[in-house]
Amino acid sequence: MRLSKFLGPTLRSAPAGAETKSHGLLLRAGYIRPLAPGIFSYLPLGRRALRKIEAVVRAELEALGAQEVTMPGVQPATLVRRSGLWEGAGPELARFDDRCGRPLALAMSHEENAAFLAADSVTSYRQLPVTLFQIGRCFRDEARPRGGIARLREFTLLDSYSFSAGEEGLAAAYRDHLEAFDRIFSRLGLARAVLVESGGGAGTEHDFFYPSEAGDDAIVQCDACGYAADREWARFARPEPPVEEPQPLERVSTPGASSIEGLAKFLDIPESRTAKVVLLNAIQPTAPDDPDRREVLVMALVRGDMEVSEAKLRQAVGALALEPARGGAIEAAGATAGYASPVGLPSSELRVVIDELVATTPNLVAGANEEGVHLRNVNFGRDYRADVVADIALAREDAACPDCTRPLRPHVGFELGSLHRFPADYAERLGATYQDNSGSVAPMRMGSYGIGLDRLLACIAEEHHDERGLVMPATVAPFAVHLVSIAGGDPWIEKRATELYEELVRAGFDTLYDDRDLRAGVKFNDADLMGAPVRVSIGARSLERDGVEVKRRAEEKGAIVDLDNVLERAAGMLADARGKLGPE
Ligand SMILES: [Zn+2]
Repeated sequence: MRLSKFLGPTLRSAPAGAETKSHGLLLRAGYIRPLAPGIFSYLPLGRRALRKIEAVVRAELEALGAQEVTMPGVQPATLVRRSGLWEGAGPELARFDDRCGRPLALAMSHEENAAFLAADSVTSYRQLPVTLFQIGRCFRDEARPRGGIARLREFTLLDSYSFSAGEEGLAAAYRDHLEAFDRIFSRLGLARAVLVESGGGAGTEHDFFYPSEAGDDAIVQCDACGYAADREWARFARPEPPVEEPQPLERVSTPGASSIEGLAKFLDIPESRTAKVVLLNAIQPTAPDDPDRREVLVMALVRGDMEVSEAKLRQAVGALALEPARGGAIEAAGATAGYASPVGLPSSELRVVIDELVATTPNLVAGANEEGVHLRNVNFGRDYRADVVADIALAREDAACPDCTRPLRPHVGFELGSLHRFPADYAERLGATYQDNSGSVAPMRMGSYGIGLDRLLACIAEEHHDERGLVMPATVAPFAVHLVSIAGGDPWIEKRATELYEELVRAGFDTLYDDRDLRAGVKFNDADLMGAPVRVSIGARSLERDGVEVKRRAEEKGAIVDLDNVLERAAGMLADARGKLGPE
């Protein structure tokens, strides 16, 4: 490709509003252009990089035996309702009606559609396992699109879905994907990606996380034993509750002490001796053919010095989503906001979910469901009951490792990919069943595995750059060789440069040829900005020695190489650069 004809506009400095290093560089180097918040176009350079990322992802998935399909970006509500997403999703799911008034949604992922395809064509255990994947555009109306292409509303997603017979089949598909994702990140130059626990089930589900100051996802990590988890899902070592005999329940007047901080101060006790109540409205799954929303008021209790993890709570109550409780529902349940507790409330109006530590800590102070009044010595079992006792607490900044009790440390970064095992009833809801070897009908076990490819490119740019521009890994670089002609208007040099360009292309090098009539300095700056791994420059000075200068982007100095040896040298440099990224 000749740069004189190429739509690759570079900018001298990052435009105002570039939020991260990668965002500024991808704009400056002419990879991307913004259209609206969270919506970007890829210019030819960016598109080539994304295509290379897609190729690596596709190759690794196909090596697992996964089969590529294309699923629609527009989905009918009748399909999306099957998983509960239609009811459970908030405004992030873009919904609209077609001309006949039939409700539709833009796909955020494709689990319902993949399950529909599996249900449609798989009938017997002999056809399992099967894995379907797609690489395509999705839309999610994010509240906070940011960081350029790191958190988009319209994005390119790899989503892969495995269908297996039984738990063991699911475990094998899950492990295969985990290993494939690991290889994908290594090959793309993101070897620092960390595998972290996510989801419930104590370590059976994972995310890949890329540590970066520019990111806004959070994990906690133990330096001593290597335990790492998504902050929302992190397990942590629980402090030992005090050993005390339950004391008699006692009313205490606490005017104005409607916050935990105010209450602890008023009674002169540590916050850890109080119970914190959070009231939420849980949206519950309904039968696929039942369009009515089912809601229930949830009263969640954690110790006063902790916060509720909404992710853990959502899983504990099996809710599709949680939203703030409505005043009317709180009143109808007999609770008083700011002074609420499950003590003395009829349990039919609400679901009480308490954290394990609240269940084991004696003599807590909790609300009396009366303005300005609390209760001392509240004890679980004696004074109230719970529908669910579970770990629903968010790991604090100073939390201890659940495996070795050393301190956990918080890190920010980006979630690169996630792996998920659906519960056994999920595929059943979606109609994905098969006949097992005894002839009875069983639900397929289903897993889903996703990688956001735009974010991957943002992280690659975040990791691979210097003060002059991008230093792209050989597997991602839009062009392998950036050929700079320093002809200075000399037709003979121009001719030699063009001959070399044609030779490089014939030999199969992805070559960007800077044939523009510009100063050498400007051309070198653009080459540094765009980030091709190998730069070849040809001009009067090198031709005097019958050679060209060949330079790695990652190194300061190049070397003069005989014209006859250019291809060999460039191939060697590229093979070397690829080799550093792990086996293909
Ligand atoms: Zn540890």
